Amino acid sequence: MRMLFLLGWLLSAVSAVAQSQKSIDVAAFVSVEAPLFVLNHVRIIDGTSAAAKEDQAIVIANGKIQSIGPAASAQIPQGAQLLDRSGYTVIPGLVGMHDHLFYTDSISVQVSGGRIGEPGLFVAEIPYTAPRLYLAAGVTTMRTTGSLEPYTDLKVKRRIDADLMPGPSIDATAPYLEGAPTRFAQMHELTGPDDAKRMVDYWAAEGMTSYKAYMNITREELAVAIQQAHAHKLKLTGHLCSVTWPEAAALGIDDLEHGPVFADTEFVGDKQPDMCPAGGSSSWAKQEVNGAQVQELIHKLVSHHVAVTSTLPVFESGTPGRPKLQRRTLDAMSAESAQSYLTARANVPLDSPMPALLRKEMDFEVAFVKAGGLLLAGPDPTGNGGVLPGFGDQREIELLVESGLTPVEAIQIATQNGAVYLGQQDRIGTLSPGKQADLVVIKGDPSKSIDEIENVETVFKAGIGYDSKKLIDSVRGQVGIR
Ligand SMILES: [Zn+2]
Repeated sequence: MRMLFLLGWLLSAVSAVAQSQKSIDVAAFVSVEAPLFVLNHVRIIDGTSAAAKEDQAIVIANGKIQSIGPAASAQIPQGAQLLDRSGYTVIPGLVGMHDHLFYTDSISVQVSGGRIGEPGLFVAEIPYTAPRLYLAAGVTTMRTTGSLEPYTDLKVKRRIDADLMPGPSIDATAPYLEGAPTRFAQMHELTGPDDAKRMVDYWAAEGMTSYKAYMNITREELAVAIQQAHAHKLKLTGHLCSVTWPEAAALGIDDLEHGPVFADTEFVGDKQPDMCPAGGSSSWAKQEVNGAQVQELIHKLVSHHVAVTSTLPVFESGTPGRPKLQRRTLDAMSAESAQSYLTARANVPLDSPMPALLRKEMDFEVAFVKAGGLLLAGPDPTGNGGVLPGFGDQREIELLVESGLTPVEAIQIATQNGAVYLGQQDRIGTLSPGKQADLVVIKGDPSKSIDEIENVETVFKAGIGYDSKKLIDSVRGQVGIR
C-alpha cells in the first residue's frame, strides 16, 4: 500500500516537473537557436531538382529563410550569428509520406503452424523513438499513413506542436479504413458504406488530417470514404488489394501506396470484384513497364492526378542480403528487435523473386516520374523490421537513385513533391526566401554520392537546429519497445 502511494506520488511529481519546464525534452537536443543566423559557405540543393550550388550563404531570420546567394557577395545582416559550414550541404527538410509511428519486428513469432495467432497480428506503437529518429534523419514533416493507436498518434502530434517533445510536424492519418476480414488485431472492419462515412466523419472531428484505405475495403466503401474525406477537405490514400488501381483512380483516390508491383491487382487473371486475390506481384512480374497495359495505367494515374508513394526500403528488406547491415540500425533496436530482424533477414530465401520485383517497381517509378506523375517517398517501417523510422527515409532516397533518378531528382521527390501533395508548397519543401527554415545540414555532397545523405549534422525545423547525433543516441536500444 505504502509502495503504491509512493509510486503515485512520484508519478504526479514527475508530471508536475514536466509541466513546469515544458520543453525540457526538446531543449536537450537544440544545438542552434538564434533569431538571426547565417549558414555560410554551404552547398545548396534546393529541392526543385536544380543542380547543386556551391559556396552559398543562407540567412535565416525568425524561423524563415531571408535570403540565399553566393557567399562571396552575401549581405550579412548586423548581429547575425555566423555559422561556417564549408564542406557541408543544405537540403530542405524531408517530407516523409509513409512514416508510421509503429514498427513491426516480430511478426514471425506471431505465426505458428502457418496461422497468425488470435486475435490477429499485433503491431507495436513506438511513439517515443519514432519521432526522434525521423527528426534526426532530416524529416521535418511527415504523414503517419495509417494509425493503429489513433489517440497516441494525435497526442504525439499535439505534444510536438506544443514543443513538449522533439519530432516532425505530423499529418496524422486516421485508423485504417479496412474491410473484412482483416489480419490485424488493432484494425476495425468496415460493415459497409454507411460505416465508412461514419468513420471518416468521426476521425475528422477527432483531429485526424488524412485517411488511408486498406487491403480488404470494397469499391462501395472506398467511394463513400473518398467522397466524405473530400467533403472535409482532406485527402485519402490507399494500400489496396480488393480494389484495383484503375478502379481507385476512377473513384477519385488521391494517392496509392507502395507502387503497383506490390499493390495493384488489375492483372490477376481470376480477380473477383471487391476481393483481395493472391498473386498480385506475380501477375506484375509478367508485365513490361514499357508495355501498353502499364503505360495505360501510368497515363490513367497522371491524368487523374493520383500520386504514388514509393516505399522501396520495405521491399528491399525482403531481398536476399540487402540492405548492407548498418551498425546504427542495430544499435537503435532493442535486443529482441535486433535478434528478430537478424533471424528474419537470414531466412530470406536466396531464390526469392524479390530482386526482380524490386527492379520492376523501380523501373515503374522512374517511368511514372518521367510521364509527369507525382511520386512521393517514405520508408514504411514494417516488413521484417529492417527499416527504421528516419534511417529508412534516407534509404528511400538512395534507392530512388539506384532506380535511375539523379540525386537532385530523388531529393526533390522526398521534399518538394511531398509538400505539393500536402498543399504546403508555399511554406515548405524547397529552399527559397520566405519559406519556413526547415533544412538539413549534411556533411559531404549527396549530389555526388547519395549515401552521404546519411551524414546529417543538424536538422532545422522552423529555424531551430536539432543535434542529429544526440537524438539518435537518446533512443539507443529502444526501437521496438517504446
Ligand atoms: Zn505502411
